[in-house]
Amino acid sequence: MSNNAASFIAKSTIKAADLEHRRKINFNIGKYNATVPLGKMQFADVNTARERAKNAKWRAIENLDQYLENFEKVISNRGAKVLWAENAQQALDEIGKICKEKNCKTLVKSKSMVTEEIHLNKYLEQQGIESIETDLGEYIQQLDGEAPYHIVTPAMHKNKEDVARLFADKLGVPGGLNPEELTLVAREKLRDKYVQAEVGVTGANFIIADIGGIAVTENEGNARLSCAFPKTHIVVVGIEKMIPSLNDLALFWPLLSTFGTGQKVTVYNSIVTGPRQSNETDGPEEMYVILLDNGRTNLLANPVTREALYCIRCGACLNACPVYKNIGGHAYETTYSGPIGSVITPHLSGMAEYKHLSYASSLCGNCTQVCAVKINLHELLLENRHEAVVEGDSSLGERIAWKIWKASGLNRKMMNMSNGRMKNWMVNKIFTAWTAHRSDLDFSAKTFNEMWLEKNKENQAS
Ligand code: SF4
Repeated sequence: MSNNAASFIAKSTIKAADLEHRRKINFNIGKYNATVPLGKMQFADVNTARERAKNAKWRAIENLDQYLENFEKVISNRGAKVLWAENAQQALDEIGKICKEKNCKTLVKSKSMVTEEIHLNKYLEQQGIESIETDLGEYIQQLDGEAPYHIVTPAMHKNKEDVARLFADKLGVPGGLNPEELTLVAREKLRDKYVQAEVGVTGANFIIADIGGIAVTENEGNARLSCAFPKTHIVVVGIEKMIPSLNDLALFWPLLSTFGTGQKVTVYNSIVTGPRQSNETDGPEEMYVILLDNGRTNLLANPVTREALYCIRCGACLNACPVYKNIGGHAYETTYSGPIGSVITPHLSGMAEYKHLSYASSLCGNCTQVCAVKINLHELLLENRHEAVVEGDSSLGERIAWKIWKASGLNRKMMNMSNGRMKNWMVNKIFTAWTAHRSDLDFSAKTFNEMWLEKNKENQAS
């Protein structure tokens, strides 16, 4: 078992028994579950909308090379610089170079999972640059020294009392502030940073091929300020965020907000198509777009797993997953958690190190049922398991066990030898992993074959 797998099991075992954690998560997911149906009412037929979104993403991913080149051509014509990063280190090196050139001491950053993926904050800290998270949830997590807990709601595991305690502890404000007061504290602290910052970093929810732009969706206005206030704007975005046309946003914006938070449409939706032009008064002097691969082409190379690149990071599959709801986002120890995280992480970060995530599923299919773009998530988890076996990533013990299972499964005499008593002994006394958290199993005394033969005999006699 890899170290990552052992750590995952240890952390998830503790979290699954943490009833206070479960109460907070159930409370927040309960609120989400109550709002989503209201958001869905805006669609005449939400299933058709999801189907159409899936088709649009299919087109984008099948023609990704052409769309990326078109995006680069059009946005470059308006003065943006497009940089291609094969991996996290290349992206960090490019950001480091730009920050050095701009003599950057302070950088403001909006919520972006891809910058979590490349560990940008840690890198900037090493370079002596202060990086400020400007999304409230991310700001809370940064103050607490924790990674985001959820891809949409980074501080979902904290209640308002936790946040009030954290602010009092880290910012020296009075304890017991209410959510409005806490928001005002964060706003006051952050406003100055926008003015000081030499560089602003954002992610992008969508890359728009035809107009050469990026679209950013948010609720607080902080991403808009992060990209417009500082003189330099850097966008870091995974190549899979492509959509073919501006017109597609009419579908993707409401879909993302409904499946993400239950809103009809998110409060701020910005499209950025380059730095400030000569006839414009606002915006950054320079804009860079870093297009990140970092393992995404591994998913693209396999026609089956390619579907995972359709993801619009709405987080619906996390909220629906019985595993996520019990162990929470941090037990995964990966940037992307929940069902989509378990599907893509082994391809982004290594099958041998992360294949265990594909097994952390009951395969109930709830994730597939709620996915905004109808990704067959539970089947992709099975595909990962298949790939892991084909690549030889399964342990020797597991391979031997399956060989014995196959040999006995193909042999009627051996199957009948494994009667109820034998199975009870094997499961309850020898392979005790099942009974470690459950009561003993009690198999039928006779095998299926024995019962079948008896039934046939009875039928013939009658
Ligand atoms: S896989 Fe589907 S449900 Fe999960 S985050 Fe992506 S789009 Fe949303």
